[in-house]
Order: sequence, then C-alpha cells, then structure tokens
Amino acid sequence: MIRINNLNKYYNKGKKSEQCALNDVNLEFGNTGLVCILGESGSGKTTLLNAIGGLDDFSGGSIEINGTKLTGYSPKLTDAIRNEHFGYIFQNYYILKDYTVGYNVKLALNRYDLTEEEKNERVDYILDMLGILKYKKKVVSKLSGGQQQRVSIARALVKAPNIILADEPTGNLDEENTLKTMMILKNISKECLVIVVTHEKRIAKFFADRIIQVSDGKIVSDKVNNATAYERSDDSNIYLKEYEQEIIDDKYAEFKLYHKKDDIPEKIRLNFVFKDGKLYIQNLSENDLVIANVENGVQILDEERPSLDAQDVDNFEYNLSRLDEKKNAGLPFREIWHMAMANIAALGKKQRFMVIILLVSAILLSITTAKYVNDKVIDEAAIVTSDSHCLKVNLENTDIFNEDEHMDMHEFINKYLNNKKYGDIICQNTSGMYIEGRTFTQIKS
Ligand code: ADP
Ligand code: MG
Repeated sequence: MIRINNLNKYYNKGKKSEQCALNDVNLEFGNTGLVCILGESGSGKTTLLNAIGGLDDFSGGSIEINGTKLTGYSPKLTDAIRNEHFGYIFQNYYILKDYTVGYNVKLALNRYDLTEEEKNERVDYILDMLGILKYKKKVVSKLSGGQQQRVSIARALVKAPNIILADEPTGNLDEENTLKTMMILKNISKECLVIVVTHEKRIAKFFADRIIQVSDGKIVSDKVNNATAYERSDDSNIYLKEYEQEIIDDKYAEFKLYHKKDDIPEKIRLNFVFKDGKLYIQNLSENDLVIANVENGVQILDEERPSLDAQDVDNFEYNLSRLDEKKNAGLPFREIWHMAMANIAALGKKQRFMVIILLVSAILLSITTAKYVNDKVIDEAAIVTSDSHCLKVNLENTDIFNEDEHMDMHEFINKYLNNKKYGDIICQNTSGMYIEGRTFTQIKS
C-alpha cells in the first residue's frame, strides 16, 4: 500500500529557474493492479515515480510505503524499502553495460536464498519470456537500445518484487515486444502493484486497471479503466471487413470498390486495356495509384483486423514465483567490487584520475593510521615481566612527574635512568621502551 499526501517537488528552489514539478499530489495505491500514469512530456510523471521509488527527494508532503512514512530524503530508510519492495524499470537503471546480460540479471537475485541452479533457471525463464535468452552471454553495451531496455525489464522482474515502477518501459520497443512486456506486467499485476508511466494512450487504454492523468505536476483525472480492444499500430495492411463494399459486375469485369463509411471517393475513372494477355491500367483520377503487395508493405486481406482482447491477456502464461528475502543479505564483495569498477570505467579521464588519486590517498592514510595505532597500543603479552631483561621502576612516590607529566621518553631516560645501575641491570635507551603513567616497562622487540 502506498499513500501519497500533499506531495510537492520544486527543482532549483529559490533560484530564478525554480520549477514546480509536483503540485500538491495526493494518491493511494493498493497492493495489486496495473496503474498507468499518463501525461504529456514534461508533466511530472518521472518526477512522481522517482519520488515514490526513493530515487529523488521531494520538497514537501509525505509518502507512506507499506507502513513506513517518508517525509523527506532519507537514503538509509529508502534503501531498505527499495531493496525490500521495489523493482525498477527505468531506462538503463542499474545496468552494468560492460557485463553480460546474464550477469546483470542474476545480480538482482543476490539477496535471495537460491542455489546457482535455481538462479540460472529464473534468469533463463525471464530472458526467454522477453525474447533475449539468445543474448544471455553478450555484453550489454553491444546490444541495441530496445534489447538493453529488455535487459532492465528482466532485471526488475526476475526477483518478482511487491511493487514495480516502470518509466516508459516500452519506449524503445517495437510493437511485438511492447505487447510482450505489457502482457507480462499485466499478468504479474494480479499479485503485485505495477505503476507504469507512459505517454501512449493506446497502451494505457488496453492494459491499465486505473489511469491517472498528470498535467503540469497536478493530478487532473484518476479513473478506473474499462479496457477496450488493442489494435496493433504497426499493421499497415488493409482489412476488407472494416470497409463498405460496392460491386460493379459486368460481362467482362467485376469491380469491387471498398471505402470507409464516411470516406466516399470522387468518381473513380480508370482505363483498363487488355493486350497480349497483359492488363494495362491508366489512372484518370486525381488519386495516386498504389499496387498492394508484400513488397510495398501493404496487403489487402479479406478478414478482420487482428486485435488483442481481455481473453488474450488472461490466456497469456507467465509464471515466476515470489521469493523470500534472505536475512541481512547484502551484495557479496565481488559484486560490489565489480560495480565499483564498472562505475569507475564509466567516468571520464579527468574524473578517473581524481578517483585514483583519492584511492591512493586513502590507502596511504590507512597505512599511516594503522602504524600509528600499532605503535601506540602495547600488547600486554609483549611486556617483559620475568626474564633477565625485565625492568620495573616504580616512580609512584617520586617527584619526577611533578615537573612534566608527559616528558619525552628519551629525555626521561637520559635524565633519570641512562647508564645507571639497577641491581645487575644497566638501563640503556632502546626503541622498545615505553613510558605509561608512572611505571616503566620494557617490551620484547
Ligand atoms: P515527464 O516525465 O512527465 O516528461 P519530468 O518529471 O521529467 O516530466 O519533468 C517535469 C518537469 O520538471 C519538467 O518541466 C522538467 O523540465 C522539470 N525537470 C525535470 N527534471 C529536472 C531537473 N533535474 N532539474 C530541473 N528541472 C527538471
Ligand atoms: Mg519522463
């Protein structure tokens, strides 16, 4: 359950270029269903989704996610919520471009108690559903935009999260992959909440259970959607069942004229000449003459235009079980290292140089600190207590320290101990001597 109260977001607040991207937004989302957020470019859709997903801060109001209330930017809290609940389908979000498709998708399963075999099975399943299994071993950067988009969809879906946030998930995809992706999202929305940001009305109209319209950062409409049939957009074929029909039947020729009800042509004037077994056509009308065939990309088919309906969505099979999260599981060191390296690789030359300088400084600082601490901390086991080198001088009752509590060791030895005889021992200034408080001890070096 997500509850958004009086959410506001300003970009460049207090500056001349200040812009209100979210204006007092109030919304509630249940635990299941597919909600589409529709709106023109620049209306605030991405800003809203980023705020819900904790990917960006907001200027006012609150967002409550499954009982946890966020009133501002709280990276630790949002990280925890993010890992537990969200799957993101944002363009190239969190994709390591220099790694393989399989590696990227499997990374999302690190938090879960699964065997390697179970992980591979899930990865293969989702890649296959999205039609990119054949690219599993390919490096992401070598793929097309649409293929990369499907990798980020696979990454978000492989762990079967509670809430899926998708920002224009089909923006880079052709019609076939758009339908496949939306069918999957629709299918999983029976069990989890899917919020899809889109500017394509056709998609929202067919797939959404609810459509929220955004304009200038405001919610302008929020309605339950009764899905209408989906007509494919890339289908330029002519389906005769959609047309009115006129027949001119003569001794030598039968002509059928098809036209839309409210699209009646001017009188069509054509000369047909039959000569040596061939048919010659002369067009005397204003209209262009187009021969319909496969090469021209237009076929005339005596059938209904194919479309999707609710039944097709219901019959679509998709089956990826929900997962129990591993307790206290973070990413293994190897993955963190890989990600860090990938991020560094993505930097420019100058930035990379700065990172390397910073790393070297950090390593030097660590070494110096470790040495300092090591020198300061005396291992009690190393204090000589029993052999012939043992020397204990109790200065409790002397007035040596009255002069200076923190006297330099060498100065102290020179002043009070050096070359003096204590029983059989002659005290010599060595590097393993320390003064602590008012007792004098020697450690094995
Ligand atoms: P949408 O996703 O609907 O296209 P956005 O949420 O990306 O819209 O943007 C909403 C408004 O906020 C736009 O006018 C955009 O110019 C502005 N905006 C978005 N991101 C920033 C940013 N980082 N800095 C300044 N203005 C921004
Ligand atoms: Mg956007």
